[in-house]
Amino acid sequence: MDGDAAAVADEERVFEAMGFKAANIDGEEARAAEIPIPMIPTELEDDLRDVSILVDDKAPEEPLLDWDRDHPDVSVGSVFPSMYDFRLAVKQHAIENEFELRTEHSDTKRFRGSCKANGCPWLIRASSQHDNSVRVQINTLEHQCSSKCRLEGTMASQAWVAERAIPLLKRKHNMGAKEVQEALQDKYKININYQTVYYSTQRAADKLFGKWDDSWDWLYRFKAEVELRSPGSVVEIDTVQDGDKVRFSRFFYAYKACIDGFLNGCHPYLSIDSTTLNGQWNGHMPAAMALDGHNWMFPLAFGFFDSETKDNWIWFMQQLLKSI
Ligand SMILES: [Zn+2]
Repeated sequence: MDGDAAAVADEERVFEAMGFKAANIDGEEARAAEIPIPMIPTELEDDLRDVSILVDDKAPEEPLLDWDRDHPDVSVGSVFPSMYDFRLAVKQHAIENEFELRTEHSDTKRFRGSCKANGCPWLIRASSQHDNSVRVQINTLEHQCSSKCRLEGTMASQAWVAERAIPLLKRKHNMGAKEVQEALQDKYKININYQTVYYSTQRAADKLFGKWDDSWDWLYRFKAEVELRSPGSVVEIDTVQDGDKVRFSRFFYAYKACIDGFLNGCHPYLSIDSTTLNGQWNGHMPAAMALDGHNWMFPLAFGFFDSETKDNWIWFMQQLLKSI
């Protein structure tokens, strides 16, 4: 008896250690929440199907795959460069065809989706191939639902919106989330919630212009480039030591052309003040302005610092003095 109990306990522990127990529980919960159990487990079914398909593994040079972002072809046999692309494509397909996609399974190797409408038989399956491209294995094509309503949000993922925000931002760099939202809703006839658009627009902007955070790292390159292209310009970056890290503290720049313009063509007068910067990074932007011969404003120097301390102002004035 004792021996048996110990054996069972051991077996359980071994199973648990191998992750089987967790997998079983997850599986049961998933099945309980889902539709009737098919006769053959779908994973197995997919595997069998994959095996039965003749794949030419030897193709030495495969063409670069691309796909139509607005009207993707997701019929059987279509191939996408990656699972990421396929997921974007199938979402776009759902939006274009005005049905709601249910993702039944999605990982790096396989995708199973169906139509959310009650009783609609449409389903799609895709799986990755030897080169990580993704091929559509099943698409029943026919919907028997009437889901031709305006979709609310669920289909337009951040990735989907970001993909479409990129061309918009290329045309108009400072396009805000609100404007992106309106443009996409108008074009695709869907409602997309503002938050999705907000994060997607940020994502698209990061992809196009780089991240705001990273731009600090570019300051020294900016300085080097300005000094190279416009010798005589003054670009100063001041840092502080924070433990073993060097942190940005303050910044000053005056272009050579502005310095010359001030010295040669302006009244001997400077107006100096700073303005508050709001948004992701707070701080102050000091500026020195002159008046030219027409009494028009003539910019001389700008800077950034965290706040209007005496120390910061002295530093700014020292740089300014050095420049002129
Ligand atoms: Zn349907």
